[in-house]
Amino acid sequence: MDGSAGVLARLRRALWAAAAGFALAALCIFLIRTNALWAAGIGIVTALAVVVLPRRGRVVVDAARATALDPMPAFSPLAQGVFEHLPDPLMLLDAADRVILTNAAMRAIVGAATEKKHVSAIVRNPSLLAALARTAQTGDAEQVEFTFHVPVERTYQAYAMRVGAEPGVTALLLHDLTSQKRSEQMRVDFVANASHELRTPLAAVTGFIETLKGHARDDPAAREKFLDIMAIEAGRMRRLIDDLLSLSRIELNEHVPPQGEVALASVAREAVNALSALARADNISIELSAAGDLPPVVGERDELIQLFQNLIHNAIKYGRPGGHVWVTLSPAQAASRSADQVIAASVRDDGEGIPSEAIPRLTERFYRVDVKRSREKGGTGLGLAIVKHIANRHQGRLQIESHAGEGSTFTVFLPVAREPLASAPSVAAQ
Ligand code: ADP
Repeated sequence: MDGSAGVLARLRRALWAAAAGFALAALCIFLIRTNALWAAGIGIVTALAVVVLPRRGRVVVDAARATALDPMPAFSPLAQGVFEHLPDPLMLLDAADRVILTNAAMRAIVGAATEKKHVSAIVRNPSLLAALARTAQTGDAEQVEFTFHVPVERTYQAYAMRVGAEPGVTALLLHDLTSQKRSEQMRVDFVANASHELRTPLAAVTGFIETLKGHARDDPAAREKFLDIMAIEAGRMRRLIDDLLSLSRIELNEHVPPQGEVALASVAREAVNALSALARADNISIELSAAGDLPPVVGERDELIQLFQNLIHNAIKYGRPGGHVWVTLSPAQAASRSADQVIAASVRDDGEGIPSEAIPRLTERFYRVDVKRSREKGGTGLGLAIVKHIANRHQGRLQIESHAGEGSTFTVFLPVAREPLASAPSVAAQ
């Protein structure tokens, strides 16, 4: 389309030029009776002038519009609108490195009063300023990574490039790398933590193998004792690997909403039954109570059983020997408008409680209030991270309340299914 339109325009201009040349030549012949050769010359010069002069005129106008003092008129209002709404921060500088435009995303970082200021008064990062200077000097595009430390630390990839004819405009475009850096760091920490957790039991097992091959070879009593310890350590490694696999499977599916509908009361009962022997060993009683007319929740049964098991297991591990664990299911009002109604599933114990400063960190992987205690109880430090991810996948929310010495309550709010099935069965208090 552009090509044919251009050819037509050129043809039209040539016709106008020929007509003007012909008309002037004819006027010369009829009015001042010049000879045909002179008339032809005048006609050709006129035609050339008609072709060349408008082009020169336009170059002058464009250059005048985009002077170094104010290149902004060279950008159409449409282009300026696009710049303003770009999600990435953008800054345009004139030939004297003064700001001629910052978009909304850039103003959110450097503040509003930037116009006509020298760039060094706005961004103080030396490597960024050096990259901008190189681009302004050579015209070559530059990339540099840098960090703004205030108001909060954020890392950006900066792209500096020169656009337009001389003197041109230097464009600075930033791309936020903060969350990418953070997740890279989390991955590195996670691998370091997981290998550290595995290394401890592995070192114990390796040590006992050496002992059994050496001086304990002919000592049946020592051999029995060491084999028992090795079985405990191997169990710890197995639990850790199981939890790591669960966590990565749940994380992988976290963005896929669960499909089924689950009656929470039967799920909670299954988890309680699975852990009742463990609770009895510590003389802890578990009480399950659920409202009779609870609607089902949208969910995946196996994941919800795991969620209850992790919370009830913790309540037993960190609860009071001879104490109680209460599992309660009741309808509640949704905090957001995305769900009409939710079910609050809470697990409460009367154990030692959790210091308030530790509560925000409990769902971090491998975080424990007391590492030694958790290890003694066979903990992996991943149970609550798994609970949080299961709750997230179910569009749910985890709430932790605790006071040192007064026990803890872990509550998960889960949205009910939109079209409820027949009433869930009532569960009597245990
Ligand atoms: P762990 O395998 O160590 O139990 P979790 O992720 O399940 O790991 O829990 C993290 C930490 O939270 C535990 O080590 C413990 O310090 C604390 N915690 C969890 N549940 C309770 C509870 N019911 N009472 C007191 N502390 C708890």
